[in-house]
Amino acid sequence: MTVSPSPGHIQERITSVKAAIPSQVRLIAVTKKQPSSCIRAAYEANIRDFGESQVQEAIAKQAELVDLKGITWHLIGHLQSNKARKALLHFDWIHSVDSLKIAARLNEIAADVQRSPYCCLQVKMVPDPPKYGFSLDDLWASLPQLDQMQHLKIAGLMTIPPRESSIEEIKYIFQHAQILAHQINTEGFNRIRINELSLGMSSDYQVAIASGSTMIRLGTTLFGDRPA
Ligand SMILES: *Cc1c(COP(=O)(O)O)cnc(C)c1O
Repeated sequence: MTVSPSPGHIQERITSVKAAIPSQVRLIAVTKKQPSSCIRAAYEANIRDFGESQVQEAIAKQAELVDLKGITWHLIGHLQSNKARKALLHFDWIHSVDSLKIAARLNEIAADVQRSPYCCLQVKMVPDPPKYGFSLDDLWASLPQLDQMQHLKIAGLMTIPPRESSIEEIKYIFQHAQILAHQINTEGFNRIRINELSLGMSSDYQVAIASGSTMIRLGTTLFGDRPA
């Protein structure tokens, strides 16, 4: 059985992580599979960025938290086309834009609902068959079309190293994500500006920050193990 940390314990963890990271790095508290009480506890500790991986689960928690003002909601999990509209209505950032198809769908609906979300392109820096995301070849082939999508603010890259990557591999992946961002920005696209790097979760956020991450996504470190 999983025992959730108490609100006080969550707040202590947040304080110690914040003390250990540069102030300009955005700390996203990942609350997937955690109850809304965890979000409340983190909010009390001044967290305003929350990450969820499922649209439906996030909407249910948002309904329980309408009294908490000023939250920025980040979608960090794979998005299916049929959830695109809800994702646009309920999230401020979508870190998991992982195909041209979903980008096109989001762009189309964004025009319709008049919401223009910030997006990160999810990229696989090394081959990783089970994972969603653009391969590097896919990404370069797709960028000209992505640049035409007027209703999306493509502002970042997100990557997750393959499971069981060594620290050296993780370092390589994060550093190359930073290089890739720079390469994209020097291509002279009209709209795409990669200012954000969404790199780093509980096991690798220190490496990510050393490699230029601007947004870290922490679940376990703040809230303990997720309920099954
Ligand atoms: C679950 C998840 C996280 C948080 O993972 P932890 O290891 O618990 O910090 C971060 N990013 C994504 C995309 C996730 O799905």
